[in-house]
Amino acid sequence: MEIPKFLIERYQFWKKNTFEDYKDIYHQACKTSQKPIAMIITCCDSRILENTIFGGTVGDYFIHRNIANIVPSVDDKEQNIQTLSAVEYALKVLKIPNLIILGHSNCGGVEYSYKTLIDKKNTKDFEYLNQWINSLKNSYNNIPNDFSETEKITFFEQENIRQSIKNLYEYDFIDKLVNENKLNVIGLWYQINSGVIKFLDDNDNFIALN
Ligand SMILES: [Zn+2]
Repeated sequence: MEIPKFLIERYQFWKKNTFEDYKDIYHQACKTSQKPIAMIITCCDSRILENTIFGGTVGDYFIHRNIANIVPSVDDKEQNIQTLSAVEYALKVLKIPNLIILGHSNCGGVEYSYKTLIDKKNTKDFEYLNQWINSLKNSYNNIPNDFSETEKITFFEQENIRQSIKNLYEYDFIDKLVNENKLNVIGLWYQINSGVIKFLDDNDNFIALN
């Protein structure tokens, strides 16, 4: 095994600079258990820098990433274990009061799903990915016919956030926390090229955050 040069160089830079600047915070963070202010479920996409966007420092955000930031339905037994185990720990052990689903524009997972659901022949030889994106079927079925291709994909990305939130409420322990006002569930969609973030309001519409 060879450690790539870029990893070593970037690590050394971080250790000498950022770590030195935040040394006290790192030390302090290990004296007590973590107490994140929010859990963020987002996509694996390398362009989503959630800690940068929301000014995160050590201990602020509990992060779970998967392809296309999906929370599978409670009925989807084979799909939901990994994501839900992270949510379960976040809510039951860490008692995090805010749960954010952060979707985004130009999502490769959503786009691949869109293309394969339109045309089954487009399916590539992805043993695991093809199974995973099955969770997006419900959201896909809600795409309006009269939208342009670009609008359809943006709608699909946002509908996936709506659906993931609905799926979260299917889990009794999550629904209970929300009803007791102990948990705030937030849907966000991030447009990479403009930096705009839209939030899901009470009317199920995405509105730009100002
Ligand atoms: Zn994505």
